[in-house]
Amino acid sequence: MNTKDLNATDNDTTKPNIAFIGLGNMGAPMAENLLKAGYPLSVYDLSEDATQRLQQAGASVADSPKDAARHAQVVISMLPAGKHVHSVYLGDSGLLANLPKDTLVIDSSTIAAADARLVAEAASKLGIDFLDAPVSGGTGGAIAGTLTFIVGGSTDAFAKAEPILAVMGKNIFHAGEHGAGQVAKICNNMLLGILMAGTAEAINLGVKNGLDPKVLSDIMLQSSGRNWTLEVYNPYPQVMGNVPSSNGYQGGFMSKLMQKDLNLAMQTAEDTHVETPMGAKATELYAAHTVENGDKDFSSIMARHDSSVLT
Ligand code: NAD
Repeated sequence: MNTKDLNATDNDTTKPNIAFIGLGNMGAPMAENLLKAGYPLSVYDLSEDATQRLQQAGASVADSPKDAARHAQVVISMLPAGKHVHSVYLGDSGLLANLPKDTLVIDSSTIAAADARLVAEAASKLGIDFLDAPVSGGTGGAIAGTLTFIVGGSTDAFAKAEPILAVMGKNIFHAGEHGAGQVAKICNNMLLGILMAGTAEAINLGVKNGLDPKVLSDIMLQSSGRNWTLEVYNPYPQVMGNVPSSNGYQGGFMSKLMQKDLNLAMQTAEDTHVETPMGAKATELYAAHTVENGDKDFSSIMARHDSSVLT
């Protein structure tokens, strides 16, 4: 396939067929944005609820990843962790073995760089272009189509993917070769885990000393403690509308996924002999928190200080 095929415009019937695998909190809205932009979409997820939502939006539903990719020139996956990515793509019955040469595969799951490189290598042996393209921006960014894509892989494959990623995101970065997207992503999420834990801690200190959480948040938002969590993802209930903390910490980015990302960052730090003491503390906090609250949004780390926020 050449770049022209994938750069097709809205009125162009040569828009590539896309197979989308993994329709959870992130994958579903990303797939919906592709549909809205006119890309023919075939979808697969283990959960029937997830596929039904996309069927209603106009996608065709497949019985397996292989079935979804039957007529696809591009495959996109958004799966929880490395083991799911391996099970979808690798092995004799995996997707790679069943894709035509020149298919473009974009995996947007957050997984270890080593896992992404393994899939990239297997793909390359079969003449398939693979990109690791994890995202930042949360479910809000996935719905609004304003995600940041952090891509690792060849320049050619990146150029083919860019117009498709631009439908789902606002900032598309080419971080480097295979795995580079994942390294950049875990650096970002290690910092996010530290910021969320620290923001929850600061708000709790203020509240326990008589401050209103909204007043305190507004003050910090205009002061030097300002950060992304205060801007768009406040962890204290009812300070901000339309965020998981004001909705019983449902949806969003599950604490167990944050813990997975922190573990990936710690593993990378250990393998490369880099010190990350703040990251280690955030990992410890999320490990304890996920024992009871793994399925709740990661801003529920607030409950470590005040369990009443969960009720
Ligand atoms: P999720 O658990 O909501 O969704 C994952 C989906 O994958 C589920 O619908 C599940 O049924 C499906 N799935 C699992 N195994 C499968 C398989 N073998 N075949 C087909 N489908 C399968 O997770 P999410 O929040 O959408 O996150 C997906 C990825 O994106 C994770 O790697 C996460 O770390 C990353 N991420 C999430 C956020 C966020 O805010 N939620 C933000 C950035 C990155």
